[in-house]
Amino acid sequence: MSERFFPDSMPPPMADATTLPWWKEAAKHRLVVQRCTSCQHTCLPPSPVCSECRSTESDWQEVSGRGEVYTFTRVHRPVAGNQELPFVIAVIALKGSGGVRMMSNVVGVKPEDVEIGMAVEVIWEDMSEELAVPRFRPVG
Ligand SMILES: [Zn+2]
Repeated sequence: MSERFFPDSMPPPMADATTLPWWKEAAKHRLVVQRCTSCQHTCLPPSPVCSECRSTESDWQEVSGRGEVYTFTRVHRPVAGNQELPFVIAVIALKGSGGVRMMSNVVGVKPEDVEIGMAVEVIWEDMSEELAVPRFRPVG
């Protein structure tokens, strides 16, 4: 099991037919973005239809897991019991993803030290055997 940052009481993400393949890659600690096979547009969260060309055909492009904090907020109210406060919700601009930004958390750093533009890398938090959630920590 990986290092834990959030309690088991945290509400789990809800997968559907469109997002389940992404969560299956995440369970293998592979961070991927959806890529339209017609126009190569990339996006997250996954969508059944390309927002650029309306194609329904897509595949997955693995990314390095490196990026930078695009914006963030410090949350001072718990969403689960036994949760450390405050915690950081951030939008991460993913390197090599074709411009994809994803929502996540920044961990492994004091919330007051998180900054816009901070270089971060993915770290996987295994919530169970089948669920790994990508969080981000400062590089170095
Ligand atoms: Zn497209």
